[in-house]
Amino acid sequence: MKRNTVLKLSGVERHYGQGDTQLSILKKADLTLNSGEIVALVAPSGTGKSTLLHLAGLLEHPDSGEVSINGNPCNGLSDDKRTAIRRSEIGFVYQFHHLLPEFSALENIMMPQMIAGLPRSEAKQRAGQLLDYMRIGHRGAHRPGELSGGEQQRVAIARAVANAPSLLLADEPTGNLDPETASYVFEALEALVRQSGLAALIATHNHDLAARMDRRVTIADGKVVDF
Ligand code: ADP
Ligand code: MG
Repeated sequence: MKRNTVLKLSGVERHYGQGDTQLSILKKADLTLNSGEIVALVAPSGTGKSTLLHLAGLLEHPDSGEVSINGNPCNGLSDDKRTAIRRSEIGFVYQFHHLLPEFSALENIMMPQMIAGLPRSEAKQRAGQLLDYMRIGHRGAHRPGELSGGEQQRVAIARAVANAPSLLLADEPTGNLDPETASYVFEALEALVRQSGLAALIATHNHDLAARMDRRVTIADGKVVDF
């Protein structure tokens, strides 16, 4: 499989506060992520994992430095253009699933596809395939509240990749699950990434899961370094 650079952070800075109370979270941080690789982001709480994921996901602007998605520098783009890139190229998974409670698992996965303009029948077919892929095809008609934590996260992962993004960003996606369930959810995520060739950056405190990823990075003194 051909490897493309999907995400590139170059000299990215992010500071909070001002004057004496300025907190430098990222200081000239660099990171390159290629298609088909799963990278663990392992660092203590408060070191900037979520900040890094938000910058990579174009949800925030860096104070300086550049964020490029598929070779396109994104800093100077309009909010509309950033949103368009986010919708088509980036999928997010959070610690808590954020699924819509009034809709079934299948409908939750159909939603982003229909927003992107896909006909209902096609969205439904792909949603069903993704549920099968996550090994919860039999749970499609259930609402999130009727699913276990591990099942909810698998639906959230399926929803994140529904529009075939090139980058998956996950912020402690198994942080709320027991180790065995976390392992099972990661296995499904890994199969999906391997099959689709997307690039995944996964913040986690789970060292067993991190060990199963292709590469591990951490944040030290505001920089992203191999771990
Ligand atoms: P992590 O995800 O690794 O726990 P975060 O990226 O959430 O870390 O936060 C890194 C640091 O930046 C923390 O000290 C946090 O309090 C601070 N921080 C995050 N967001 C803001 C904000 N909007 N304003 C001020 N400080 C913030
Ligand atoms: Mg965080």
